[in-house]
Amino acid sequence: MNKKKNNNPVAMMESQDQGKTLTQAKTMEMPRCVANLRYFANLILNHHETATVMDAPGKEAITITHREPIGVVGIIGPWNLPLYLLTWKIAPALAMGNCVVAKPSELTSFTAHAMAGLLEKAGFPPGVMNIVFGYGKSAGEPLVVHPKVGALSFTGGTITGRRIASLAGALGRRVSLELGGKNPAIIFADADMEAAIQSCVRSSFSNQGEICLCTSRIYVESSCYEEFTEKFVEASSKLIVGNPLDEKTTVGAVISKEHQEKIMSYIKLAREENGKILLGGDSLTIKGLEKGFFVAPTIIADIKQTSRLTQEEIFGPVTCIYPFNDDNDAIILANDVEYGLAASVFSKNGQRAQNVARRLKAGVIWINAWMIRDLASPFGGLKASGHGKEGGIHSLDFVSDIKTISVSL
Ligand code: NDP
Repeated sequence: MNKKKNNNPVAMMESQDQGKTLTQAKTMEMPRCVANLRYFANLILNHHETATVMDAPGKEAITITHREPIGVVGIIGPWNLPLYLLTWKIAPALAMGNCVVAKPSELTSFTAHAMAGLLEKAGFPPGVMNIVFGYGKSAGEPLVVHPKVGALSFTGGTITGRRIASLAGALGRRVSLELGGKNPAIIFADADMEAAIQSCVRSSFSNQGEICLCTSRIYVESSCYEEFTEKFVEASSKLIVGNPLDEKTTVGAVISKEHQEKIMSYIKLAREENGKILLGGDSLTIKGLEKGFFVAPTIIADIKQTSRLTQEEIFGPVTCIYPFNDDNDAIILANDVEYGLAASVFSKNGQRAQNVARRLKAGVIWINAWMIRDLASPFGGLKASGHGKEGGIHSLDFVSDIKTISVSL
């Protein structure tokens, strides 16, 4: 065994700080942190701007697009994918030549602290990359309103996002908001059933359901509802909740006691509303980790579309499953929440899947897949899931001042 390859101290830190499995940190998140930095380092080296020519008689001119750093970019991040999301934001800001002030969540600030040390060791000029620690009210808000911050990128909950938007809006500050989600998956009877099931297990329970893009509403065409539900429950029952550092564990701990209580309050609500708990439904105590906060992967049926379980972001390993009649019905149900972050459509009929995707009100839509994230593509939610796009050139646009310079010929 290659010991060096398997020894990833930053992944270990992220797992111990957040509760995610070491496997998730090591195989998904740390490679992506590196990819974020490499992608934007490359993008800026290969970037080019345009010049356009006006040739109307007497009005001949050449117009150049000129891009320059905005100055200082403020970044505020959440606790669920700490370094993954931080590097996704700092990479374009630094590549564009800005200075950055970043505030990670106080719940998960280990890896940001480690990164600061690594940057210092790598010889980063002092003052270019700054990390401030502290809670949202005392460290986040001063960053939002600081007169020298040119652009503020926020990732977190919708309520916090609205507060930040109101503070920043009053100052006319540029903000990008990546907020919560209540993401649907739509399963048509003509889908590759096995692939759809495996994808929904991953999308519902990866990182304990603590990914903004996780699926939490699964709409299944009535004719295959029973078959899908039975197989989905069976596949999900194979997940192993346990010590996050154990390679066999597939579901780790949720972030905090308060969050565990929040998740459990939704499961209690499901019982009060006569929902059917098809799997899980309990908080768990893991031997040797009695102080950890674990929740069993939970699947709930017979929940109304108007229920708070359907409408509100739970952000834990809980997914609800509903039948639908036809394409139109599926689209109406999927769109009938205030969020609009992501959605998945499963069908072997390409035209049908495309038509449905175009009618879904979500910023990111996958067909027969989940969580394909091309760093070059625009990323961002619709409706209460935020506004502004980042990714590729959109990230550079956000952290640049773009000017047009016209020369009369
Ligand atoms: P919060 O909104 O609670 O916090 C996010 C960050 O904002 C934290 O660093 C927090 O600091 C800070 N903060 C809190 N209040 C303020 C304030 N008044 N002013 C400035 N900053 C403040 O979100 P969570 O950390 O609980 O993260 C989970 C949420 O993030 C979920 O809703 C999830 O969907 C969303 N999310 C969205 C993503 C997307 O791309 N759309 C990606 C990942 C997560 P502190 O906690 O230290 O007090």
